[in-house]
Amino acid sequence: MEASIKDMNIPFNKPHLTGKEAHYMYQAVAEGKLSGNGAFTKKCQHFFEERYGFKKCLLTTSCTDALEMAAILCDIQYGDEVIVPSYTFVSSALAFVRAGAKIIFADSMKENPNIDAEQIEALITPRTKVIVPVHYAGVACDMDRIMEIAEKHHLIVVEDAAQAIDSYYKGRPLGSIGHLSAFSFHETKNIISGEGGLLCINDEHFIRRAEIIWEKGTNRAEFFRGEVNKYGWVDTGSSFLPSEVIAAFLWAQLEQLDDIQSRRKHLWNLYHTNLLPIANSQSPKFALANIPDYATNNSHMFYIVCNNLEERTTLIKHLKDNGILAVFHYLSLHSSPYYQDKHDGRALPECDRYADCLVRLPMYYDLKDEEVIKVCNIIKDFVYNK
Ligand SMILES: *Cc1c(COP(=O)(O)O)cnc(C)c1O
Repeated sequence: MEASIKDMNIPFNKPHLTGKEAHYMYQAVAEGKLSGNGAFTKKCQHFFEERYGFKKCLLTTSCTDALEMAAILCDIQYGDEVIVPSYTFVSSALAFVRAGAKIIFADSMKENPNIDAEQIEALITPRTKVIVPVHYAGVACDMDRIMEIAEKHHLIVVEDAAQAIDSYYKGRPLGSIGHLSAFSFHETKNIISGEGGLLCINDEHFIRRAEIIWEKGTNRAEFFRGEVNKYGWVDTGSSFLPSEVIAAFLWAQLEQLDDIQSRRKHLWNLYHTNLLPIANSQSPKFALANIPDYATNNSHMFYIVCNNLEERTTLIKHLKDNGILAVFHYLSLHSSPYYQDKHDGRALPECDRYADCLVRLPMYYDLKDEEVIKVCNIIKDFVYNK
């Protein structure tokens, strides 16, 4: 007998396939050009440049790699300071730490987990070089404010837009505002290639060097364009470019970007409509995401924020007992085992609150409407009957 929806388990994430991935991967294989920077890579890069107006795009093997390229381009020297929110993934900070930077962690806003732009200026010293806004859940940071501060203090802005594909700030695509930006195509993101990433270069003076760093410190790209008659080792770099097989997979996803986004938005709105009355009730048990007027929502994630750690733990357990995998997210990086003794000791209470209280609900393309309703009903049951 087929299991009814009532008995089915709902995972937290399921990678979505559009159906053309294997076809394009086969095509890449058949064409016999498997290393990077071939036809599929160029197609993907052009897609992003055309659709979002990024000046230059380079596919990378991950967002972490794109951020490492950004750290090299920013010319981080030992002891340079980089301002990063503490409530983020390790890579937002690690890429700069590997280049020798000291991370100055910033707190989140009360309204949402993004960096509190109003607290940035107090963290700037003569050693500050870079600000890394992270668009949490694909919702924009206050980029006008951040760019204004950066300009005043001659700082570089690297957007960690890992979660922010197809999302906007005052009508401008995220990833197009900072000097540099990085996206992720990890299988947990909206658009995927298993592992994969993208570096976007908006400040043109970084373009030439970015291509060299991307191609292991060589001016190979210029050689293939016929701009130089031999190529060699001209700078630092690494093997940051993915193979054509990965780019072919990504291309199948990009062709369906609008469909993927509209399905995710539908699911997000379904959660929102069903949970809003509970979040608005008297003495609510949780708050919904706050999306500022300047930001759009790309439905990367649906999260709620509980009142405290204990209630979150009970809610996650209640969902799990009902076959639903909901998960918390980051532990504050300023108190991580790797960085706590390097952190300057400032308390970052909002980051800690999100670390303790935020829960992400299942969110993926193939999630069914009735599964969303089921999750909402189980949360209702938790709020009213526990
Ligand atoms: C996923 C993610 C990354 C890392 O992306 P990879 O492609 O796995 O390297 C970095 N920053 C943030 C905010 C992320 O969500």
